[in-house]
Amino acid sequence: MTHRAPNRLVIDRSALAANWRALRDRSGGAACGAAVKADGYGLGAVAVARTLVAAGCRDLFVATWAEAAVLGDTGAAVSVLHGVRAGDRPLLGLPGVRPVLNTRAQVARWREAGGGPCDVMVDTGMNRLGVSPDDVAGGLLDGLVIETLMSHLACADEDSPVNTRQQRALAALAGRTRARRLSLANSAGIALGSDYAFDLTRPGLALYGGVPRAEMAAWLRAVVRIEAEVLQVRSVRTGESVGYNATWTAPADTGVAIVNLGYADGYPRSLSDRGRAFAGDTMLPVLGRVSMDLVALDVTGAPVGEGDWLVFDPDLVDTARAAGRSQYELLTGLGQRFDRIWR
Ligand SMILES: *Cc1c(COP(=O)(O)O)cnc(C)c1O
Repeated sequence: MTHRAPNRLVIDRSALAANWRALRDRSGGAACGAAVKADGYGLGAVAVARTLVAAGCRDLFVATWAEAAVLGDTGAAVSVLHGVRAGDRPLLGLPGVRPVLNTRAQVARWREAGGGPCDVMVDTGMNRLGVSPDDVAGGLLDGLVIETLMSHLACADEDSPVNTRQQRALAALAGRTRARRLSLANSAGIALGSDYAFDLTRPGLALYGGVPRAEMAAWLRAVVRIEAEVLQVRSVRTGESVGYNATWTAPADTGVAIVNLGYADGYPRSLSDRGRAFAGDTMLPVLGRVSMDLVALDVTGAPVGEGDWLVFDPDLVDTARAAGRSQYELLTGLGQRFDRIWR
C-alpha cells in the first residue's frame, strides 16, 4: 500500500477540459491558449498542460524559462511571459519555447542570440511589462519573426473605460509589424466580447474554476477541491477555548474535529473563524485560529470520526471573499504537501 498524505487536492480533469472548451467557444474565431504559470495555478503544470493539449490547446504561457523547462515537450508552443533576461541564456533553445519580449534590451538580447521566432508584449496602459506603442511604430521590432504581438488588460474584471482604451491601442498596431497574430484577452477579457479576442486568447484563472466576472459563473465548472483527514475528535465544554491565543470559546458543549490542513498548505490564516468544510451536506465552521498544519472544525451532531475525510468549501468566489484574498492567491498558494489526485 502506498503512503497517502493526510490532505489532498481532488482535481477534475474533465472540468478543466470543459472550461477550456467553454472559453475557446467564447473566443469567437480566435484560438484559445492557456496560462499555466505558477505550476498551473497550483494544480500541477505538467498534468494541466497534458489535459489542455489533449483538449486541443496549442499555446501555453509560463512566467519563466525554469517553468518552461519543467513543462518539457507538451506538443504545444510555450511562451515565456517574462522574456529573456541575461540569466536565461543557459535555457534558451528549449524546443518549442519562445520568449515574449518586453523591453528594448530584451529585443536587442534576442537579436544577438540569433533572433528566431518570438512574441512581443506591448504596453497599452497597464504600465507593467511591455515595449511602448511608439517603439513599435518607430521600427523597434522591424525584421523580428513575431508569432504573437500581445498586450495585457489591467481591468478586465471590471466594466472600466480602461478596457476600451487598451483594446483600441492594440487594434491600432494591426499591420504595423509582421506579427502573425494579435492577442489581448485573459480570462475576464474573454467576457468583454469579440472585439477583445483578436487572434488568440490567454485564459488562466477561469480554466481552473475561478470566476473573474459574475456572468462567467454560468460557463465554468469547479475544478479543484481540498480534502483533509481528521486527526482527532474531542468534546469541548462550555467556556473552554480552542487553538492559538484561545480566540474561540465554546458557548455550549461542542464537538470539535482537528483536521490536517493549515496555512502552510495555503489555507489562509484569515479563514480563522470564517472558513467552512462539509461532511456530506452538513456545514462545519472553522473554530478559532487556523494553525500552520491544523484547523479545528465544529462537528457538533455530525457523525465525524478520527480518520474521516472532510471536504473544504470548493466555491472559490465565496472562499476568497471570506478570506480577504483573491481567487488567484488561493489557487497559487496551494502547497506542496497535498497529494494531487486527478479524477
Ligand atoms: C497571467 C496572465 C494571463 C492569464 O490571466 P488570468 O487573469 O488568470 O486569465 C494572461 N496573460 C498574461 C500576460 C498573464 O500574465
